Amino acid sequence: MSLNKKELSRTIQDEIEKETGEKATVSIEDSVVRLNGQFPSNQSVVDAGHIAAEFEQVRGVLNEIDYPGKKPFVPPQKVSDELAGKEFDVVIVGGGIIGVAIARELSQFNLSTAVIERHDDLGTDQTAHSNAMIHPAVVTKSGTLKWEMNYRGNPMYDEVASQLDVDLKRVGTLVVAENPDEELLFSYIEKMSIKHKDPAPKELDREELDRIEPRLAPNIRKGLLIRNTGIISPFELTIAYAENAMANGVQFFVNTSVIGVQTEEGSIKAVDTTRGTIRTHILINAAGLYADRIAEFAGDRFFTIHPRKGETIIFDKSYQPVRTVLASFSMAGEGSKYSKGGGIIPTIDGNLQFGPTAEEVCDREDVSTTFAGLEVLFDKFAPVLERLKPHYEKPDKSKIITHFAGCRAATYKEDFIIEPSNKVKGLVHVAGIQSPGLASAPAIAERVREIIVQEWHPAENAHFEPRRKRGKRFTELDQKEREELIRINPLYGHIVCRCENVSEGEIVDAFHRGIPIKSIDAIKRRARAGMGRCQGGFCMPRVLEIISGEANIEKELVTKSGGKSFILSERTK
Ligand SMILES: Cc1cc2nc3c(=O)[nH]c(=O)nc-3n(C[C@H](O)[C@H](O)[C@H](O)COP(=O)(O)OP(=O)(O)OC[C@H]3O[C@@H](n4cnc5c(N)ncnc54)[C@H](O)[C@@H]3O)c2cc1C
Repeated sequence: MSLNKKELSRTIQDEIEKETGEKATVSIEDSVVRLNGQFPSNQSVVDAGHIAAEFEQVRGVLNEIDYPGKKPFVPPQKVSDELAGKEFDVVIVGGGIIGVAIARELSQFNLSTAVIERHDDLGTDQTAHSNAMIHPAVVTKSGTLKWEMNYRGNPMYDEVASQLDVDLKRVGTLVVAENPDEELLFSYIEKMSIKHKDPAPKELDREELDRIEPRLAPNIRKGLLIRNTGIISPFELTIAYAENAMANGVQFFVNTSVIGVQTEEGSIKAVDTTRGTIRTHILINAAGLYADRIAEFAGDRFFTIHPRKGETIIFDKSYQPVRTVLASFSMAGEGSKYSKGGGIIPTIDGNLQFGPTAEEVCDREDVSTTFAGLEVLFDKFAPVLERLKPHYEKPDKSKIITHFAGCRAATYKEDFIIEPSNKVKGLVHVAGIQSPGLASAPAIAERVREIIVQEWHPAENAHFEPRRKRGKRFTELDQKEREELIRINPLYGHIVCRCENVSEGEIVDAFHRGIPIKSIDAIKRRARAGMGRCQGGFCMPRVLEIISGEANIEKELVTKSGGKSFILSERTK
């Protein structure tokens, strides 16, 4: 039933009051609901946003309700004018996986393109905090844009990974039946997979199970393998996309925040950044957790991002009991309405991870890890793993080497927004890209390309080179290749990171691949130095020295992860 504006406002207000006990002021303009008021907690504000978004007639929700602890948005200050006078056909705000995938896609055309990233490196917000899964589409709600991008994006990864020389493993999600009743549920998953346009899953008997996931509990007789689940390194993928885009002419500006958007007669004219104003006529809003701010700067905000934090724990490589993303029916229903509930997931580098959690938080910058988060993850997944793999060493907290958190950029509609603005010509929104954004990235980039081509008809770049070659990895070479490499460049003979066996040659190589490096974490993301058991405890001083030498900066100015995260406070003897 379609309600008129007044009836819809009243119904939303009543529903919010019924569910939260609080009264919000509701107004509606162009099918966008604006909520105002004063509520007691962030969770009640988020609930109100979701209630309003549930109505089909509602295109988006602007949730302006105040609550104790709400943080005002303070845009960063301008620091210089060094980019003033620059002009590009396209400016992409945000150097996460989505921004770089779009940049590479658009580099197939004769368009001058720039990517503006506020951090000192690419892919450090949502992208770095993801669980690195190329999800099957069956985990997303069919009919949504999220689902469409997921089922289109997942298979595209075979070509993307091969062209960009990035490791991808199709490990699959293995759902095991712990009793005969659960075996009957496989047909439901099979039906759902087909409905979601995934390839048909494969039913496995015990013999096949032993080959794919050895040493399962004796009571497990059957399993169902959802074959298209993949794992990848989001760090490597982001850098690879960016390097390839750069080789095809895209320019990257890190440490640069967009702080304003200029329009003229309803069209994009320029972006104001912390390093000066850049002229452009196409602005792609791929700003993740701040996509609503960019939309506001441009005068077309119709959604609010509410950050949903997820914590993950990673175990040492010496403890890796799974080859697949291992799931049991007992884990079903563990997720909330808006998140998948996490899992037992291998990483491409051979670690085990448990995660992520899902918690609505007030602060988009909240990447704090909590003792409670660790306990929740361990208590949820360790018993399942112990039960499914009883002959394997028990999960042990002392094997956890790192614990991290990141926020998902969720809108209240809980769907992706990939569309040209209907108010500002030249503005394209790529917002609300929460999970499965990584799995969807190639399809999202393709969708943006279609929008740009339809509107601007750019000529093709005849020199577009889709392939990128990654640097040498010492651990992957055989003895003869190692000796040869060391003969040519002795730096490959100096092992800097003993946990991950990373040589100085690999670290130095990272500096010659185009994207500037100024932090310890930028090296960690590219060369894996510091990713292992000691988390950089031993190699950090040497990595710091290499950064200082290669980037030509004082040691005291080298940071852990950009901003003011300096490692050294002053010079000692
Ligand atoms: C805990 C967690 C687990 C996840 N697991 C998975 C998974 O396993 N599989 C999967 O498919 N997806 C997963 N996701 C989702 C996935 O990580 C995201 O969908 C994806 O990374 C979104 O990429 P993005 O480029 O849109 O956003 P981001 O990576 O957040 O990038 C946006 C960029 O914009 C920049 N920016 C913002 N404002 C400005 C400004 N004003 N000026 C300049 N730059 C700006 C930011 O600094 C940031 O780098 C997970 C997400 C989380 C949080």
